[in-house]
Amino acid sequence: MTNDLPPRRPFSVRARLLSVTGVVVVASLLIWHAQVIDLLSFDSDADKQPVVAGGPNGSPPPAPPTRKPVRKTAAPVETPTSESKPKKTPSPEATKSSRNEEKTQYSEESIEGLGPVLRGRLRKAMAVAKAQGVPMRINSGRRSATKQQRLFDEALQKYGSYKAAIRWVLPPDKSEHVHGRAVDIAPQPAMAWLERVGWKYGICRVYENEPWHFEALRAPGRKCPPLQTSSAAELG
Ligand SMILES: [Zn+2]
Repeated sequence: MTNDLPPRRPFSVRARLLSVTGVVVVASLLIWHAQVIDLLSFDSDADKQPVVAGGPNGSPPPAPPTRKPVRKTAAPVETPTSESKPKKTPSPEATKSSRNEEKTQYSEESIEGLGPVLRGRLRKAMAVAKAQGVPMRINSGRRSATKQQRLFDEALQKYGSYKAAIRWVLPPDKSEHVHGRAVDIAPQPAMAWLERVGWKYGICRVYENEPWHFEALRAPGRKCPPLQTSSAAELG
């Protein structure tokens, strides 16, 4: 039993080697042949396409094949969004129409988050201030109701009572910041400049205890009203 097996092994190995080389040769021939066929068929397809496109004069058949690839390329969601984004950024006027975008899109320090009246007036004032060498920035403009509530809760903790807290921070349903109708200006020279000449642009300081807080209280060129002692006076 064991003596019969050794002499058979060399034959089986040779047979396997022959069969393997045979398979490799046949496979390589098939691959080469397939490549040649692909090249020939590709050339034939390339020759057919211009013939189909240029051949008919006003015949409808060529239209369906061109519509199908258009639908396939337009199917992914990324294409329309990438096309709509660059349209929004170069035209800030388009965002003015949507109030929801103003609330969510801009930061608290951005002039774009302000309401249209205060925004327009402050833009003019800031341009003049800049020309006169008075750098001005917005420390806080439009705030979300969530942010205003957090500030009010912190004021309650700090000042110990509702009556004391509302002298500095109003709750969300009372604050003009939540509506984009109030702006806190910085730094100090800009506050002083805006308090002095803000009436020309229709922007007024409001409270005695907040030299940074301004609102569009009067029409441009009209005298600003007397200061209120604090924001608590508004809730009277
Ligand atoms: Zn303020």
